[in-house]
Amino acid sequence: MRIGIIGAGQLGQMLGYAARDLGMQCTFVDPSSAPPAADCGEVIQAPFDDVAALAALAQAVDVVTYEFENVSVEALEEIAGTVPVFPPPAALQYAQDRLAEKLLFQSLGIPLPAFFAVDSRSDLDAAVAAIGLPMVLKTRRFGYDGKGQAIIRNGNELGAAWEKLGGNALIAEAWVNFDFEVSAIGARNSAGQVVSFPLTQNEHTNGILQTSRAPLEDTALERQAVEYLHSLLQRLEYVGVLALELFVAGDRLLANEFAPRVHNSGHWTIEGAEPSQFAAHLLAISGADLEKPQVCGFAGMLNLLGEIPEAARELRAGNLHDYGKAPRPGRKLGHITVMAGSAAERDRQLSEIEKTVTNPTI
Ligand code: AMP
Repeated sequence: MRIGIIGAGQLGQMLGYAARDLGMQCTFVDPSSAPPAADCGEVIQAPFDDVAALAALAQAVDVVTYEFENVSVEALEEIAGTVPVFPPPAALQYAQDRLAEKLLFQSLGIPLPAFFAVDSRSDLDAAVAAIGLPMVLKTRRFGYDGKGQAIIRNGNELGAAWEKLGGNALIAEAWVNFDFEVSAIGARNSAGQVVSFPLTQNEHTNGILQTSRAPLEDTALERQAVEYLHSLLQRLEYVGVLALELFVAGDRLLANEFAPRVHNSGHWTIEGAEPSQFAAHLLAISGADLEKPQVCGFAGMLNLLGEIPEAARELRAGNLHDYGKAPRPGRKLGHITVMAGSAAERDRQLSEIEKTVTNPTI
């Protein structure tokens, strides 16, 4: 099976390694000269929306997928005439627009924070009247890792938020005083089989994922999250892996957003589940049967941002994944996964590694 992947970053690289284990070959499209996935397949060096490059990819493979969300839906629909493209471009279209995404959640009965579409300064005042403060104002499109967002705590901060984001199509969301965040990751194939990974607990700083822990041992939350995940996968006639991010407030789950792709919060599955999210995605898009992932122990994952300190390379605990990217402040360069026999031992190891990595001189 020949897999075409738009994007050759770290997610492409991890898909590439999983493909190799499954005996599949990958070809990537990416504008960079030496992207992380270059070590696991041919890279057609071209912009992501280069029509000729995408057509060449479509000719060369059996199925096309993508590793990030800012791919042109029109370009995907175009090549879908030549080769199957999964996840379906229609699912990507929802994920690219926070308003469409929230309306989809609403139509499925998936609870979510109150929201209000904001296209003008007067809409922003109407949003305050409708959903109250604090709120978070977000661009509807092209936001990621907390970018394109402004938190508005009181009326004095409205002007600055508008200054920062006004002029874009926006959405205001009620601020959620959540206890913690989780992601429900699952896969569906074209025959309609659905499998899910255990619920993962996530910690973000400044909108960027820092740590993930799984499984979260809360059967009631897990049941609810998986139900929402299933309804989303079925409605979208989805094929591939999808990650649904949710806030947990008391015993309630509120949907934040979904990613139509393999997800950073599922990196722990490389060591912690069989198949991993990457293998599950490849199996789903290639039409194979899906089996419930088997989870071995308690996993923790720590993202390495900006630089990979020498101390991270010298650790004796955990598995270091170095994506081979040039250091840059805030950039995701790698991650470390620990596996343990209990949640307490996992947490102990993770916090020790976190201390060493963020405070390498101690
Ligand atoms: P997003 O890009 O929408 O996933 O937002 C990035 C992160 O910002 C989330 O994972 C949360 O930690 C935080 N965040 C986003 N929206 C809200 C909200 N309505 N209430 C509280 N925190 C939020």
